[in-house]
Amino acid sequence: MQALLTWWSGHQRNVVWRDATDPWVILVAEVMSQQTQLDRVNQRLSSFIAQFPTAEALAAASRTQVLAAWSGLGYNRRAVRLQDAAQRIAESGWPRDAKGLQELPGIGPYTAAAVASLAWGEPVPAIDTNHRRVLSRWVGRPIGGTELADFAKFLIPVDKPAAWNQAIMDLANAVCRPEPRCGQCPVTAWCADPTLYVRPTTQPRFVGSTRQARGAILRSLVNRSHSFDSLVETTSLPSGQLSAGLSSLVEEGMVVSDQDQWRISD
Ligand code: SF4
Repeated sequence: MQALLTWWSGHQRNVVWRDATDPWVILVAEVMSQQTQLDRVNQRLSSFIAQFPTAEALAAASRTQVLAAWSGLGYNRRAVRLQDAAQRIAESGWPRDAKGLQELPGIGPYTAAAVASLAWGEPVPAIDTNHRRVLSRWVGRPIGGTELADFAKFLIPVDKPAAWNQAIMDLANAVCRPEPRCGQCPVTAWCADPTLYVRPTTQPRFVGSTRQARGAILRSLVNRSHSFDSLVETTSLPSGQLSAGLSSLVEEGMVVSDQDQWRISD
């Protein structure tokens, strides 16, 4: 264990919430990081936390304020789910552990483990595809499911779970990448098969997508309501793509139509 932790002490990525112990700051950072580049999260986290310093503050905000604060981070559904989780915390208090965190809306096992280990020192491994790739290479074959969870639990030091989870993540990002840089690796002795890797999933095409339309629509609607024609003008989207974006936002309850005017739901 120590070889990886020693390497990590000198190779930590620049993450602005690295020393945070406030579960709210860690939760927001982890949700933002799910589908947004680290540099952008580093730039935006402080202002989001300044505006919503607690779960209660986000819970009390209007949907428009939340989406405006999230603007530019992409995948706006995350902001809505984060507010849903904040409302649950405001009503019932913080859960006590990773298992309880997973019962909050939109919080999966990885995020729950990251928050619980960093904020509360709970020895739960934060397993994502990066963690899986590293441990599979150590074992020498692709592992998943219960086998992966049991192995990760066996490895995590009970007295340093936050450092361990971050060390695995940083090793996976800097060294044990899909194309590994084994010459820089501090733990080659643990590794059974450096040639083994899980291909990263390719991002779906963005231009012309419903996701692109959703972002453009919400950017327009956080300022004021619009008719369909006005949205065509302000978003510069083809009407078919605009319709698909609106339908998907309506389906999720983020946008409503009122007397031919589209607006963000209350
Ligand atoms: S030796 Fe290479 S493949 Fe194995 S853990 Fe280190 S970087 Fe990853």
